[in-house]
Amino acid sequence: MLKKSLLSTVLFAMLVCFCTFSASANADSLEDTGCATTEVSWVSCFDSLDDMKADSDVIITGTVVRTETELRHDVVFTRCYVRIDKQEKGTLSAGTVIPVLQTGGTYGNITTPEIADAPLLKVGDSYELYLTATDGLGAYKNYYLISGGFQGALKIENGMKTVLSTENRLFDNEIDVQSTRANTPTFSYYWNKSSLTVYVDGSIRDRYSSYTRGGICAGINAWAENSDSPKTNITTSSAFADVLVNMNDYGATNWDALTTTSYANNICTNSVMQINAHYRTKYYKTRGLWQAIACHEFGHTLCLDHNTSSSPSIMRRVTKQYYIDGAPKWTTPKSADIVPINLKY
Ligand SMILES: [Zn+2]
Repeated sequence: MLKKSLLSTVLFAMLVCFCTFSASANADSLEDTGCATTEVSWVSCFDSLDDMKADSDVIITGTVVRTETELRHDVVFTRCYVRIDKQEKGTLSAGTVIPVLQTGGTYGNITTPEIADAPLLKVGDSYELYLTATDGLGAYKNYYLISGGFQGALKIENGMKTVLSTENRLFDNEIDVQSTRANTPTFSYYWNKSSLTVYVDGSIRDRYSSYTRGGICAGINAWAENSDSPKTNITTSSAFADVLVNMNDYGATNWDALTTTSYANNICTNSVMQINAHYRTKYYKTRGLWQAIACHEFGHTLCLDHNTSSSPSIMRRVTKQYYIDGAPKWTTPKSADIVPINLKY
């Protein structure tokens, strides 16, 4: 089943010991040793700086003065309190401290690793921030989100601005033409199993709709149906599950879904998919959307990173890039996704 991963696992077994420490404190859902990556499907992003400027409520340069974490269901968020040094857009004055919410952090004994595309802002560091105000409706209070999820934060150091995103670019229309037909990149980890037990919370049916849960299951199963990935056995018992799938209203977060996959020596140990009900309210009518989002997230579970080329791919990093009321409306893996999966499994 494993065509090429074994050798690289042996060769790089020493290296993975040095990867991010952030998952090591996870208590219940993740292993207490090893590594974890957290990937999301962003709700929306911008095509240009002008678009981001126009859509942002506040544009500032400021310094993070403190942070605090909060738990929403099973996901940890960090509020970074930023003191405004200078404002380019908005009605706030210099010296004001405002909360900016990011995903990731440690609350008690629960850790959500920071998102690879959008690392946490650090106390004492200065940033240029493009921010969108949230409405304060629902369970969570007023705060700002970084515009475009990963796009609206630049670190300022020695007068230089650098992007935080690992992609080292902000806008997906800055696409390298040579990568037009690129296969989706992979992470080093993989599952050393021929089948995976996937818990999909049965209460999703009651709390949202049977269409929602049915779409999620179909999106997960689409990988085994279209590629050589491990078979998927969906269950409503979380005991002994390799993958846990939960759905809740996590509030305004900028993402439709989040997947944290844990591994040790490149062998996956477990994965948790958390789907955000906040932005998509037509639970009865949009089975295809839930299928697409779950398919995208399960691609992360299997080892796929985001596809930032213009290839047809369920792994494009913004939901509307693979599923939108117009086009595209992809709910299954595309060949750019299947080829690297079949090399891995
Ligand atoms: Zn993603």
